[in-house]
Amino acid sequence: MNYKIENAYLLLDTEDGFQVEKKDLYIEDGKIVRIGNANAAKANAAKANAAKADALNANAAKENAEAREQPQAMDAGDYQVINAAHQLVMPGLINMHTHAYMTVMRNYADDVDFDEWLFRRVMPVEDQLPSEAAYWSSLLGCMEMIQTGSTSFVDMHMFQGQSPKAAQQAGMRGFIGRGLVGEDLYGDGYSRFQEALEEKAAYESDLLKFILSPHAIYSCSEKLLAQVAEEAQKQKMLKQIHLSESEAEVQNAIDKYGKTPVKYLSDLGFLDQDTILAHCVKMRDDDMDILLRHQANIVTNPASNAKLGNGFALINEMAAKGLNICIGTDGTASNNTLNMFREMGLLSLIHKGIAQDSTAAPAQFVLHAATANAAKALSMEGKLGVIAEQAYADLIFIDLHATSLYPNNNIISSLCYSANGSEVDSVMINGKFVMRNRKLLTIDAERVYYEVDKIVKKCL
Ligand SMILES: [Zn+2]
Repeated sequence: MNYKIENAYLLLDTEDGFQVEKKDLYIEDGKIVRIGNANAAKANAAKANAAKADALNANAAKENAEAREQPQAMDAGDYQVINAAHQLVMPGLINMHTHAYMTVMRNYADDVDFDEWLFRRVMPVEDQLPSEAAYWSSLLGCMEMIQTGSTSFVDMHMFQGQSPKAAQQAGMRGFIGRGLVGEDLYGDGYSRFQEALEEKAAYESDLLKFILSPHAIYSCSEKLLAQVAEEAQKQKMLKQIHLSESEAEVQNAIDKYGKTPVKYLSDLGFLDQDTILAHCVKMRDDDMDILLRHQANIVTNPASNAKLGNGFALINEMAAKGLNICIGTDGTASNNTLNMFREMGLLSLIHKGIAQDSTAAPAQFVLHAATANAAKALSMEGKLGVIAEQAYADLIFIDLHATSLYPNNNIISSLCYSANGSEVDSVMINGKFVMRNRKLLTIDAERVYYEVDKIVKKCL
């Protein structure tokens, strides 16, 4: 289906940062093919309508609803016309670090110490989850991500095939990796590595890509990490790892190897521009310079790092150095939501507070981190996280008449500081609607709740 989106405000990434402009958007075969000037007569009519609506705020919601209900006409050029009056169309958010299979554990282990959280709550559940449970749990995660404006997610999981199967059902863009651990990739780590490659062979598509995903430096040997780095080159795959998440991890590395986790990974040849590093909370010595030299990508997870008592990454300093910063939610056991709007707001407020500087982590920076920076880390620059010709049509439609965003004094600010995700009206991924007017089109929510309830009863 080809679409022409009319009457919308577009969030465009310009040399001067994000700007909001009223233009028409043409979509063909899953890609944005043209960003046209709104036709003058139509633009004037829209302006008049908008003025009328603004003058009569009480009627605005009703008018908005009517606009949605207008029958969709086919344009001369075989485009289905979407009237997006009172909506902002922006690139879908990219959740750069999560474990979707853990969604079933939302609010299951809170306000407990880390050992209790991991060893006595999370791991025992993981150990007894049947594989199919990971599918429903991941699908629940996809459902929340779509409803809160994420169109892509980067996942690390433990259940072969279940995360890609869920992403495929949801119609989401996934960058997915089976978690790897062990001493030797071709020895004790081999079965997981095989699962990762089999998953890639079975599911790789336009929408689904696969990432080699060693878990962390404390669960993978030096040898295995070096082998993963080699395989990533050979297989032309990105790689991701949890890094420098806690003080204990950094101190253990220093005690054991005489260097920080960052230096350790650098020395064994793991770091490059195709590496995605989750957390990076505890930076020491010249860690940031090393990361910059390798052009490695940082994913900050502010809620997870705060919840687990690990502190906050040095985002202001990293950004000032020129490191590529992206944002992830982490899994719901450590967040407890996959909502990137909440994560964006938190990120900005936390770092303003820490720096005691109200100009720190501004909305423009945070929005870039959740869109274009993420695309860069995924080697999808210009194709994802941006409204541009030839970019994938991964778009979210934000209701500008939502109370939480009204009045629209500064739309860019509102996305960072006011939005809570409920303003996402519609979501398009690869040119296909997966949610329209808040109605999910690819996921049967009631079925997901039913299956998830069964898992909770059995496994939690
Ligand atoms: Zn994680």
